[in-house]
Amino acid sequence: MTINRRIPFLDLVTPHLELEDELVRIFRTTLGTAEFIGGPMVEDFERDFAQFCETGYCVGVSSGTDALRLALIAAGVGPGDSVITVPLTFVATTEAITQAGARPAFVDIDERTYTLDAEKLREYLETQCEVDAKTGHTIHRRTQARVTAVIPVHLYGQTAEMDPILELAERYRLIVIEDACQAHGAEYFSRSENRWKKAGSIGHMAAFSFYPGKNLGACGEAGAVTTNDEGLARLVRMLRDHGQGRKYHHEMQGYNARLDAIQAGILGAKLPHLPIWNQKRRETAQHYRNLLAPIQRAITLPYEPPWARSVYHLFVVRAVNRDLLREHLSSSGIGTGIHYPVPVHLQNANRDFGHKPGDFPVSERVASEVLSLPMYPQLGLEQQSEVAREMLQDVAIASSIGERS
Ligand SMILES: *Cc1c(COP(=O)(O)O)cnc(C)c1O
Repeated sequence: MTINRRIPFLDLVTPHLELEDELVRIFRTTLGTAEFIGGPMVEDFERDFAQFCETGYCVGVSSGTDALRLALIAAGVGPGDSVITVPLTFVATTEAITQAGARPAFVDIDERTYTLDAEKLREYLETQCEVDAKTGHTIHRRTQARVTAVIPVHLYGQTAEMDPILELAERYRLIVIEDACQAHGAEYFSRSENRWKKAGSIGHMAAFSFYPGKNLGACGEAGAVTTNDEGLARLVRMLRDHGQGRKYHHEMQGYNARLDAIQAGILGAKLPHLPIWNQKRRETAQHYRNLLAPIQRAITLPYEPPWARSVYHLFVVRAVNRDLLREHLSSSGIGTGIHYPVPVHLQNANRDFGHKPGDFPVSERVASEVLSLPMYPQLGLEQQSEVAREMLQDVAIASSIGERS
């Protein structure tokens, strides 16, 4: 009866077995040249990924966190500055802000898209900030901090609603850095330009992560900054390499945040597969929608607005009895995830920010209800049916004993 009932949340073994020969060849090549840092493999990947993102430049770095941090520093963000972002994100978004010397200022998310609520951003800027008539800088009235940048997070593989964010950013002179760490290949329809745009090409700069579990993942740590601004690209290039323009000529305080050649080679080998993998994820999402239709009143399915083409880094549903549902699935051998159980403003590490429960009610409610179902290009329809069957059963049980209102 129980034939292979284990359905993992994520399968990172199969895709690497499928590409094993190619990946091993990259390692061999690198051993032959000993070009472990920099060199043609890094440059080739940077060129190809810039092309994929439809941006002028891509600078490979050591992680998504460093991509965010170096983008902020290159943009001139520093001590005394305030950077706007959302509470429902991976903690790296705010770590990068504090590592740049700035402080995060939170604006809540939209309840349907789970990304930065442009209306609340407008309200924040109009009611809590003012533009200094002399300098043109946006100042937060109470703290007198200079508000210099905004980081919209393209969460779960879907872009934030960028047009109104860009409009506000222009009015308030904010640098826009997309956190595209979960959105390789996601698209946004810009009404102002009347065309689809790739995640990473919409703001002034964008940060990507190639952590193994991302839609495009390395076999280790890696990240990238994309931009259309040549000057900013040059700055990030210097920052990642000890602030040097030429070897041992250091123009600024820099970091060691380079992209390994082996990782770049691996990413370059995987990149041609990414459009197919993303397409598979979109099909997988559609299957889930069909399979879960009978319980769409009991659980909330992801909302994909007409202006977004998600690449479903995660397939996230919402359930009021999320923890019980998760336990039920787990006991049936089905792996799930929670992204994220504690919003960033309530993390112990961020006590200093001075927030309390209730400050960002949408993020808090969503965090208490989200459940990420198994999602990867190799996930089979049969496995999905089994996930759905267990969920239907659980919801039926829950309503029969009156746990649900
Ligand atoms: C993964 C991720 C990061 C950090 O990337 P790393 O490569 O792990 O440093 C930042 N922001 C978001 C939204 C992420 O999902």
